[in-house]
Amino acid sequence: MFPDPNESDMNIVHISAECYPVAKAGGLGDVVGALPRFQTELGNRAMVIMPMYRTPYLYSHNWQVVHKSSANLGHWFFDYTVIKEQTNAQGFELYLIDINGLLDRERVYGYNDDTERFCAFQISAVHWINAWDQLPDVVHVHDHHAGLIPFMMQHCYAFKRLAGIPSVLTIHNAQYQGQFSWDKSIYVPQWDSWKRGLLEWEGSINPLASAVKCAWKVTTVSTTYLHELRSMSNGLEPLFEYEKGKCSGILNGIDYTVWDPSHDRYLEHPFSTLHLSAGKKSNKELLCSQFGLDPSKPLFVFIGRLVGEKGADLLPQVVYDSFEFIGRKMTFLMLGSGESDIEHRLRQLNALSQGDYAEYIGYNERLSHQMYAGADFLLMPSRVEPCGLNQLYALRYGTVPIVRKTGGLYDTVIDMGDPSGYGFTFQHAAVGDVTQAIYRAVHFFSEKDHFHAIRQKIMGLDYSWDRSAAEYIRLYKGF
Ligand code: ADP
Repeated sequence: MFPDPNESDMNIVHISAECYPVAKAGGLGDVVGALPRFQTELGNRAMVIMPMYRTPYLYSHNWQVVHKSSANLGHWFFDYTVIKEQTNAQGFELYLIDINGLLDRERVYGYNDDTERFCAFQISAVHWINAWDQLPDVVHVHDHHAGLIPFMMQHCYAFKRLAGIPSVLTIHNAQYQGQFSWDKSIYVPQWDSWKRGLLEWEGSINPLASAVKCAWKVTTVSTTYLHELRSMSNGLEPLFEYEKGKCSGILNGIDYTVWDPSHDRYLEHPFSTLHLSAGKKSNKELLCSQFGLDPSKPLFVFIGRLVGEKGADLLPQVVYDSFEFIGRKMTFLMLGSGESDIEHRLRQLNALSQGDYAEYIGYNERLSHQMYAGADFLLMPSRVEPCGLNQLYALRYGTVPIVRKTGGLYDTVIDMGDPSGYGFTFQHAAVGDVTQAIYRAVHFFSEKDHFHAIRQKIMGLDYSWDRSAAEYIRLYKGF
């Protein structure tokens, strides 16, 4: 049953596949780990429902069973258990759904039965909410893993009680849509067959498209990304054009309790604007010494998934061309994992290195913080970037972003050519454009006073969650 109601203004339920620090594969996890806390601080009651994976967080916290029941995934009858983190350690109520044989895995995604896993998760979440005495004021679903929920709440016979609850979809990444074929349509609990069109897109069941059609409101994590989706969204372009009236962009914030260079538990040398030069210098020296890089040269870093979406395939040639055409005037450090071909090509560059290139292939949260703190420039040649958090972290840590003008990068980084500028931007995801921007940055690095002033400025920019969290509340109150 739903725990005791309290006096808070709104009861908000977030449903997501990721939530930092419980389980994170990218920006979705960061957002769902922060937004509910800020909504709670604004006087609301916000909770997160997510799958119970077998991640370290599970074993280092105390849990209490709050609900046990069973449901159907097609002909398969399964039991599920809901557990609650007892201390609200994350600043909001956190509930995990356990389904043996499906969700009890170490990784979030990447299994052959992901369709079954996330369908069963969504069914359990809705099934549980349907059993509450007091229903929530809003159900906020994130990306396609929770995308069937607005449809289920409105058109599945078993959940008709939920049909009047406003639902919001936030799209963190529309590239992934969770499509599956109609022969698995029995995974959606018995529904009104006249509503078939609300599940379908281009001959398949498409959870993301279904959520765009059925959610009361749709948000994307930046305004420019929303515009881009109308012309480039992996097949959903006409849908975004048609539904534009209920869509809006709300930029993500960053969580200053985790991402603050003066209190960052991963840094050996925390720093603030007061000791900016000294702080950046000691972090850079430590980082460079770990990787055998020369700290006197400007340090360019990349942090992220090594996939085409992030423009990571351009990086090996960018490094090569920079050394070739600009000279050995800079150092590079790459952190990421992803497509094996890109990983391989980045490793191969080591042969070229004369103490000016290094890479770390893998996921390393600690190192990422040390890189934001120690780097001079952050490279983001993304082809698609719904919001992008890295550039916001970089700004906070006094690292100048070099970004392609797309999505949230367009909305958050102003080129140095503008009087109010503080970063470097370029138009195309092309080696030449990135190398040209690096050339400009190397020159800028030598203008010490200007460089220092820009660092001071970017560390003070406000991309806090307070602003974004309030915008979401305004959206909910508009129902
Ligand atoms: P996306 O969600 O598309 O991957 P975002 O910019 O929204 O991109 O979020 C990326 C988040 O993941 C940031 O917190 C970034 O620091 C982190 N990250 C990505 N790859 C790695 C990695 N290999 N090691 C550590 N952190 C990483």
